[in-house]
Amino acid sequence: MTGDILTLNAGSSSVKVAVFHPDCRDGTARMTAKIAGIGRAPVFSAHDRAGQTLASGQLEKLAPSSSHEDVMALLLEWLEGQLDGQTLSVVGHRVVHGGTRFSQPIRITEAILQDLNALAPLAPLHQPHNLAAIRAVAKWRPELTQIACFDTGFHRTQDRMATLFALPRALSEEGIIRYGFHGLSYDYIASVLPDQIGTAADGRVIVAHLGNGASMCAMQNRKSVATSMGFTALDGLMMGRRCGALDPGVVLYLLQSKGMEPAEIEALLYKQSGLLGVSGISNNMKVLEDSDAPGAHEAIDLYTYRAASTLAGLVPALGGLETIVFTAGIGENSARVRRAICDRLQWLGVELDSRANDANAIKISSAASAVDVLVLPTNEEAVIAAACRTLMDPSNA
Ligand code: ADP
Repeated sequence: MTGDILTLNAGSSSVKVAVFHPDCRDGTARMTAKIAGIGRAPVFSAHDRAGQTLASGQLEKLAPSSSHEDVMALLLEWLEGQLDGQTLSVVGHRVVHGGTRFSQPIRITEAILQDLNALAPLAPLHQPHNLAAIRAVAKWRPELTQIACFDTGFHRTQDRMATLFALPRALSEEGIIRYGFHGLSYDYIASVLPDQIGTAADGRVIVAHLGNGASMCAMQNRKSVATSMGFTALDGLMMGRRCGALDPGVVLYLLQSKGMEPAEIEALLYKQSGLLGVSGISNNMKVLEDSDAPGAHEAIDLYTYRAASTLAGLVPALGGLETIVFTAGIGENSARVRRAICDRLQWLGVELDSRANDANAIKISSAASAVDVLVLPTNEEAVIAAACRTLMDPSNA
C-alpha cells in the first residue's frame, strides 16, 4: 500500500478525520481535523503531526445550522486542499454497531452497507451518521476501498452472563442482548497498557472511557469481560446528554401516563438528559466545573457517584481489581472527576497521589494504593488505521 490512510469518525455531534502515513505504526497521524458542536455552534480545528494548529480559514461556509451532510462535504473539501496531490489508498470508518454478525473490521460493500443500515435503530444517534460518511466518501472518491471498524467488536469476548438481559429467552435469541460500545477506544488502551504496566496489563483492569459518551470496560488478559453499555449506547454511566441506566418503568410511565411520543422520549433520553439535563446548564464537563451554580455541582456529584457505583459493579465480573485506567476527554483532563470517583472507591484500597492527579500524570495512584490508577490518552483513529493496514496487506488476502 503506497497511499495514505484516511480515518473518519462521524459521531452524534462531531466528525473527526485523520490522515496516516501507510507505514506509520506509532499511532501518530500526519494531520487531524475535527468539527465539533454540529447542529448548535460548530467549531473547526485541525492539527499537524506535531500537534500545531493548522490554518482553518477554509471553512468559512460552516454555519450554525450546518447539517452532518454539510459538515462532511466541507471536511472533504478541506481535506482535498490539504492532501495537495498526496494519494489515499483506503478510508477506515468507526461504525458504532456491528450487531451479532460483524465484529472484525471488514471491507464495505453495498450489501454490507444495507445490513449495517438495518442496525440503525440500535444506535440512532451514531449509526446513520457513520453510514452517511461512508456514502459521502463513496461519492467523493468512488475508487477508494472503505473499511468499517466496529465499536461493538471488542466486547464479543464478554462472558454470556455479561451479555444477557433477564428477558424471555426468545428475545435474547433474536439479538436483544448487551453488546457494549467504545470498543475502538478499549482496543487502543489494551494495546498500549503493557508499555505502562508490563504483565499487569493482563490482570484485572477497569477502563473508564469518560468523554461526551461514557462507558466502562472490565478487562482480563486485555479482553472485554463485561462493560457498562448494553443493547444501545444509552445504558450505563450518566453522560453529557444521555441519561445512562434508567428504570425501564420510567419509559413506560412517560409513554402511558404522560402520553409522550416515542420520538420525544428518544430525544429526552439521548439529548436532553445527563449532565445537561441535571445541571440545566451544559453537557460540557469543563463548563460545569467552572460554574458556581448548584445545578452544576449536583450534576458533577451525580456523575461521579454513578461512575463509582458502576465501576464497583464491574468488579465481580473480574473477581478483584488491580488497575483502573481513565481515558477520553473527561477521564484524561478532569482531576476533579477522577478524585471524586476514586474517593468513593477507597474501600477497594484505591488511593490517589493528589499532585500526580492534579498534573494529569500517567500514574495517579499513591505508592500505598492497592489499585494502580492510570490516565492514558485514547486513540481510536490509530486502531482504525491499524485495521486498514492489516486488511490492505496482500498477505492477509
Ligand atoms: P467525544 O466523546 O465527543 O470524543 P471527548 O472525549 O473529547 O468527547 O470529551 C469531551 C468532554 O471532555 C467534554 O465534557 C469536555 O468538557 C471534557 N473535557 C475536556 N477537557 C476538559 C478539562 N480540562 N476539564 C474538564 N473536562 C474536560
